[in-house]
Amino acid sequence: FNVPEPLNEPVLNYGPRSVERAALKAALDEARAQQLDIPMYIGGQEVRTGKTLEVRPPHDHKHLLATYHEGDASHVQQAIDAALAAKADWENLPWEQRAAIFLKAADLVAGPYRAKINAATMLGQSKNAFQAEIDAACELIDFLRFNVKYMTEIYAQQPQSGKGVWNRLEQRPLEGFVFAITPFNFTAIACNLCAAPAMMGNVVVWKPAPTQIYAANVVMQVLNEAGLPPGVINMITVDGPVAGDVIFSHPDFAGLHFTGSTHVFQNLWKIIGNNIHLYRSYPRIVGETGGKDFVLVHASADADVVNTALVRGAFEYQGQKCSAASRAYIPKSLWPAVKEKMQRDIASFKVGPVEDFGNFVNAVIDERSFDKLAKYIDEAKANPDVEIIAGGIYDKSVGYFVEPTVIEVKDPYYRTMCEELFGPVLTVYVYEDDQFEAIMDIIDKTSPYALTGSILSQDRYAIALATQRLRNAAGNFYINDKPTGAVVGQQPFGGARGSGTNDKAGSLLNLLRWVSPRTIKETF
Ligand code: GLU
Repeated sequence: FNVPEPLNEPVLNYGPRSVERAALKAALDEARAQQLDIPMYIGGQEVRTGKTLEVRPPHDHKHLLATYHEGDASHVQQAIDAALAAKADWENLPWEQRAAIFLKAADLVAGPYRAKINAATMLGQSKNAFQAEIDAACELIDFLRFNVKYMTEIYAQQPQSGKGVWNRLEQRPLEGFVFAITPFNFTAIACNLCAAPAMMGNVVVWKPAPTQIYAANVVMQVLNEAGLPPGVINMITVDGPVAGDVIFSHPDFAGLHFTGSTHVFQNLWKIIGNNIHLYRSYPRIVGETGGKDFVLVHASADADVVNTALVRGAFEYQGQKCSAASRAYIPKSLWPAVKEKMQRDIASFKVGPVEDFGNFVNAVIDERSFDKLAKYIDEAKANPDVEIIAGGIYDKSVGYFVEPTVIEVKDPYYRTMCEELFGPVLTVYVYEDDQFEAIMDIIDKTSPYALTGSILSQDRYAIALATQRLRNAAGNFYINDKPTGAVVGQQPFGGARGSGTNDKAGSLLNLLRWVSPRTIKETF
C-alpha cells in the first residue's frame, strides 16, 4: 500500500509582520463584510428553506455574521435518500480514489483554504488565531492524512492462508448510512467525524452544532472542491430531536459518530436501544462525550511547570475542551508559590475579541454557556467555604466574556470539582502533603468521567504510583504536562466511563468501527 507518509502539519505562528497574519486579517475582513447565507448540502445541492436563523460572533453578538436555513423532517429524509443513492458508487470506488479526495482536502486546507477556515473558526467559535490554526488547520489536516495511512493498515491486515486455501478479509463499509453529530468546539472534529466513516466507504448525514455552522460551511466547500461525489456527506441544519426522529427510526441507520455532551449521547443511545428491532444491523455507536479532567500535583513538582500546565490546560480555548484541566489537587507546601504565579499570569492575560491578536482569552460560545458559568461563579462567591482567588468577572454586554477564574475549595467534592462546566473555570483543592495516596482515591471517584488527567512530579515513585492507581480515571494520561493538546498520530484521543466509547479519534481503532469485515475462504 503506497500512501504518502503523514507528518504533522507545522503550526504557523502568525507573527506581527508575517505573510500568514496578513492573509488571515484579509480573510477576517472579507468574512465580516460578507454576511453569508449558508445553505444545507444535500446530494450535492445547496438547499435553502427560507426559514433562516442567525449566526453571530460570540465575542461580538451585535454583529450579524451569517444566516442559515433551518430544515425539517423532509430534509432529513432527503439527506438519507441522497446518501443511500450515493452509496453503491462510493463504496465500489477503489480505496485509492477515496483516499485521494481526502488527501486533496488536506492540501486545500494547508494551502488555499487555510486563512478562510481559520477566519471562519475565529469568528464563528471565538477562537484566537493560534487556537484556530491548531484546530481548523493543523488538526483537521492531520486527521485526514493520518487516517488515510491507518486505512491502508486496516486493509493490509489479512489472515493466514494454507495449502490449497486462500483466506481473505474484506473490509466492507457498513450496510446503511452513518449519522455524524458534531460539537462547536473543534472544526477538526467536525470534519473528522464525517471523513473517517466516509473514507472507509460509508455515506454520511451530518448535523453540525448550530454554533459551528459558520466553519462547517467551509468544511463542506473544501470537501466539494476536493472532489467528494454528491451525496457522500450531506450537511443538514435541522433541530436535533426532529432529525433524530427520522434518522433513528430508519432501517438503514448503521452508525452514530458523535462528539458532544454525555447527557445527549446517553439519550441517543436509549433511543437507538428502543428502536433496535427496526434496524438491518446493530448500529455502531461511537461517542466522545464529557470530561472533568484532573491535574494531580506531587510535592516534588516544579512550581513553574505546575503553573504553566494549569493556566494553559484550563484557560486556553476558553476552557471549552473536553480535555480542559478543570480540577487540580495541589499539596499545601507548593500552593503558595503556585497560587502567586497563577494570580500573576492570569492578571496579565488579555481578554477580548479574536480580531485583536494579543488577546489570550476570547468569548465563550453562547449566552446559555455564559449564564451557566456566571451562575457557578455567583454560587462560589456566596459560599463562605469557597474562595475565588483569580478572575470571577464576567460581562456579556458586547460578547460572552468570562475571565479566567480559579476557585479554591475546602471540600474536594464541591460542585465545581465534580461537574463539567465547559468554560474557563478551574477549581483547586489543597491537600496535606502526606495525603498523596488518599487523594488519588478521591480523584478516581469524584466524577463520572475519565477523559484526561495529569500527574506533575519529579519523584519517579509518585509518578509510577499515580500512573497505576489512576489507570481507569483517564483515557489520555499526561506525565509532567497539561492534560490537553493531544496531537493526531502521537496521542490517540479518547476516554471511557462517562467520557465516551474510547474509540480513539484519529486512530486505527476508530476507523475499524466503520467497517464490517467479511471473511472469504477460497479453496483450490
Ligand atoms: N483533542 C483535544 C485535546 O487533546 C480535545 C478535544 C475535545 O475537546 O473534544 O485537547
